[in-house]
Amino acid sequence: MCGIVGYIGKKEALPLLLKGLRRLEYRGYDSAGVALIENGSIGSYKKQGKVGDLEKVLQGQKVSSSIGIGHTRWATHGEPNDVNAHPHVSNNGNLAIIHNGIIENYGSLKEDLISKGFEFSSDTDTEVLINFIEYIQSSDNLTLEDALRVALSQVVGAYAIAIISKDTPNKLVAARKGSPMVLGLGKGEFFLASDATPIIEYTNEVIYLKDEEILVIEDGNYHIKDSQDIPQTPHIHTLELELEAIEKGGHEHFMHKEIFGQPESIADCMRGRLNKEKGELTLGGIRNYAKALENADRIIILACGTSWHAGLVAEYVFEDLCRIPVEVEYASEFRYRNPVIKEGDIVIAISQSGETADTLAAIELAKSRGAIVLGVVNTVGSSISRVSHEGAYLHAGPEIGVASTKAFTAQLTVLYMIALRAARNKGTIAENRFQQLLRELSLIPSKVEKALLSNDKIEEISEMFKNASNFLYLGRGYNFPVALEGALKLKEISYIHAEGYPAAEMKHGPIALIDENMPVVVIATRDSSYDKIVSNIQEVKARKGVVIAVVSEKDALIPKMADFTIEVPATHESLMPLVSVIPLQLLSYHIAVMRGANVDQPRNLAKSVTVE
Ligand code: GLU
Repeated sequence: MCGIVGYIGKKEALPLLLKGLRRLEYRGYDSAGVALIENGSIGSYKKQGKVGDLEKVLQGQKVSSSIGIGHTRWATHGEPNDVNAHPHVSNNGNLAIIHNGIIENYGSLKEDLISKGFEFSSDTDTEVLINFIEYIQSSDNLTLEDALRVALSQVVGAYAIAIISKDTPNKLVAARKGSPMVLGLGKGEFFLASDATPIIEYTNEVIYLKDEEILVIEDGNYHIKDSQDIPQTPHIHTLELELEAIEKGGHEHFMHKEIFGQPESIADCMRGRLNKEKGELTLGGIRNYAKALENADRIIILACGTSWHAGLVAEYVFEDLCRIPVEVEYASEFRYRNPVIKEGDIVIAISQSGETADTLAAIELAKSRGAIVLGVVNTVGSSISRVSHEGAYLHAGPEIGVASTKAFTAQLTVLYMIALRAARNKGTIAENRFQQLLRELSLIPSKVEKALLSNDKIEEISEMFKNASNFLYLGRGYNFPVALEGALKLKEISYIHAEGYPAAEMKHGPIALIDENMPVVVIATRDSSYDKIVSNIQEVKARKGVVIAVVSEKDALIPKMADFTIEVPATHESLMPLVSVIPLQLLSYHIAVMRGANVDQPRNLAKSVTVE
C-alpha cells in the first residue's frame, strides 16, 4: 500500500514523478504529493484525492527541478486530507520525506519531540519520523544518511522512505524495512519506486533494496550500506517487464483488461512448465524442496483475501491428489497465534504482490520454527519471493486493478501444477489420471475464452440486479471457494453486501435471509455434488429467492428451475474454479460499472497490502 517515487538526474523531475505516481496509484489514492528542491529550498505540493487532483494544483505553477520525491497515500495514521498527505517537511524546512508503512512507536517519539519544542501539523507517524531525523541530524551535526541510520535504529515498524534535503540538493537518500523499494539505474540518472512499473520505460537495470539497507544517491553515484554502516554489493537485476503490460491497451479499465486477458495469462503461467506432447510437468522453481513437499506430513497454506480463496481450492486439490492434509490459514491470524509447526512442515505462501505484510510476517514465524516455505507470487523480485526457500512465480504479468482477477486464476494454475507434479512423483495418482488431468489443464485457456463469451448475457443480468443491496453466493466442493471469491469481488468493487457460503450450510442460517429480493448466485456446474446443489436451488426457489445459476454447457435441468443461467464449458471438477469464477468476475465488473463505481480503484482499498 502507498506508492513512492523518486528521481535524481538531469531531466525535469516533476513530469517523471507524476507519471510514476499514476503507475502506482493502485497502491493508494487517498492523497498525492511531490516535493522537489527548487532554487535552494523545498517546494512541496500535495492534495487529498488522486494524482489528477494534485495535477490540478500544479497546473500553471512553474516548478523546475531535477530532484524530487512523490507519494500516493493509503492512510494509516490520520484521515485522508491535504495536511496528512505526504511529503512531510521537517520543522526547520530542511528535509522532506515520503513514507510507505507504519512507525509503531511514533507516539512516544512524538511526545519526546514536543517536549523538545517540535511542532506537528499532521496526525501522521511520518511527520514524526522526519522531525526525529532532523533532531538527530542537528543535535549531532551528522550527514543526512548518518542521521537516518541512527534514527532508524530507534524506530519500530515498517517503512520504505525517501528523503531530500535542501542543504544537499544533489543527494537523495532512501531506506526500507518491510515495504518494497526498487532503484532504477539510468545513465547519469536514478529512479526510485515501490515497484518497477514507473521505472521500466527509462531503464531495465534495477536493484531491489533489502530490509534495513540505506541507499545514498549523490552527484551521479550511489552506494548502499546496511544498518551497521557496512557497504553492500547489490545485485543488479534485468527487468523483463514490457511497457504494454502496464497500460490499459484500449480497455476501459485495467480490471476489464485483466479479466479478458486470462486465457493468455493462464497460458503464460503454464508456458515452459506443462508439456502436453511429452505429458510432463516441470517446475524449475521448486526443485530442491520437491521431495520435502512430497514427503510432508502436512501442508500449511498462508494467504490473505483472494489468495486465501485460491488456497482453499488448493486444499481440496492437494488432499485429493497428494493425500497430504492441508490447513489453509489467514496469515494475519496465524502470525498472532502460537501455531503448531514442526521441523520440515511445508508452508505454501500465496501473494499476488509478494509484499503482503501479514503473509511476510507469518512466513518469518513459520521459518523460525523450521518450516520450509514455498512462495507462490506474481511480482518478480518481491519480498516473499526472496524470503521463501523456493517457489513458483505466476508469470501472469502485472495486475493493476485493485480487485484481483487474473492473479487468482494464475494462482490456481500454479498450485494445481505443484500438486499434480507432487502426486505423480509420490505415486498417489495413476499415470493415466495424471495424463488426463494434465491434458485438461492445458485446455483451460480455451475454456476460459469460451466462458468469456457470456459477457453480453452477464451484462444484461447485471442491469437487472445493479440496485440490489444484498447477494448470496453458494457453491459446493471445489466451487465453494469460488462462491467466496464471487462475493468478495462484488463487495470490493460495487459496495453491495454479499456473502459466500457452502450451499449445504445455507440451511444453518443464511436461508433466513432469502426472499423475493435476494439474488442468489449458485455455482452449480456438473460435478460429484450436482444432485445436492440442485436440491439447494430448489430450497432457494421454495422461498422465492431469485437464482442466477452458473451451469455446465447443455445442462437441461437447472435452466428450468433457475431464473437466469450462465453456461461455462465442462472440465474436470478439480479444475472447474478456473472456469466458473469467470462469470462471477464479469458480474461484479458490470454491476460496479453500472453503479458508477471506480472499478480499478475501489474506495478504502489498495493493492499490495504492506501494512498489517
Ligand atoms: N503511515 C503513513 C500515513 O498514514 C504512510 C501510509 C502509507 O503507507 O501510505 O501517512
